[in-house]
Amino acid sequence: MSGIIQLLPDHVANQIAAGEVVQRPASVVKELLENSVDAGATEIRLVIKEAGKSLIQVIDNGSGMNAFDAKACFQRHATSKIKIAEDLFALHTKGFRGEALASIAAIAHVELRTCMEHDEVGTQLTIEGGKFMSEEPVVAPVGTSIAVKNLFFNIPARRNFLKSDQVEFRHVIDEFQRVALAHPDISFSMYHNGSEAFQLPAANLRQRIVGILGGKSNEKLVPIHEETGIARIYGFIGKPEFAKKGRGEQFFFVNDRFIRNGYLHHAVIAAYEGLLRDGSQPSYFIYLDVAPGSIDINIHPTKTEVKFDDEQSLYAILRASAKHSLGQFSVAPVLDFSQ
Ligand code: ADP
Ligand code: MG
Repeated sequence: MSGIIQLLPDHVANQIAAGEVVQRPASVVKELLENSVDAGATEIRLVIKEAGKSLIQVIDNGSGMNAFDAKACFQRHATSKIKIAEDLFALHTKGFRGEALASIAAIAHVELRTCMEHDEVGTQLTIEGGKFMSEEPVVAPVGTSIAVKNLFFNIPARRNFLKSDQVEFRHVIDEFQRVALAHPDISFSMYHNGSEAFQLPAANLRQRIVGILGGKSNEKLVPIHEETGIARIYGFIGKPEFAKKGRGEQFFFVNDRFIRNGYLHHAVIAAYEGLLRDGSQPSYFIYLDVAPGSIDINIHPTKTEVKFDDEQSLYAILRASAKHSLGQFSVAPVLDFSQ
């Protein structure tokens, strides 16, 4: 007996998944940058044209892939990062779902060039709308370059839905900055329509923040530091007098991954109690290192939401720690050497 239910062909499943993973050029930027980080790159270059609508290219000096993996990486659920379900609770990589490259290749023209150390030749291949078009050996530097062209070429509704270059570029910058802030020890650069947008050499965290926000931000930052059984917290929070109307630069990173969390945001704001003018918001760059087993990041494909085992304790620790840092800052004696 046959029914009416069928398994979707891979290219259809990939297009559907792409709708979730890839909303706009910035989503591709995030996935490619994170893959380069996972590949152990120390130098990552992002090149975009027309805010990523016509080109998004990421070039890294990471591990590269052999000829077999260069093809396999475009398969759905193909990943080198986890093998068994338990690995999800001990994650040390940004990726694990194995669906980014399959999704991106389903809705764009992709050119991959990759080479591993000790390999004489690397691999170059092109794939369009999920179909392999060409594959050839190529002499290439160690690492990987992935160029994504004509995003959503086969989904006109999606393409038309994209905002102006200015708006899309802003989203790209946001993703670029989040990854760059999560990894100050990696050198990042970004080029838009042929001109340099960012040049961030490997640095410490303070230098990286200043590299992104500009020189004046240095004096606005107060260090925060706390270590408990639940989490190690570090980073910087903004001095209250520099708080601005509307959301400022507010970043949480959990195990080097940018996340949004309204509850923890509230903990930080609570620490500023009585110090902020009405409606003004402080900047913060707060990093939490927790045991990988104590969080779940598999809530949404973009992984910007995280579920913590013990959110309430984390709230209390974060609030106390931010308060402590602000207190130290405001009671510090003002030394005037001019007299
Ligand atoms: P995930 O990152 O979740 O594993 P992706 O679709 O993003 O899934 O990538 C699939 C696989 O391709 C990765 O697991 C990795 O082995 C390989 N890969 C992707 N990008 C790179 C890169 N820049 N350098 C080396 N290997 C890569
Ligand atoms: Mg990935």
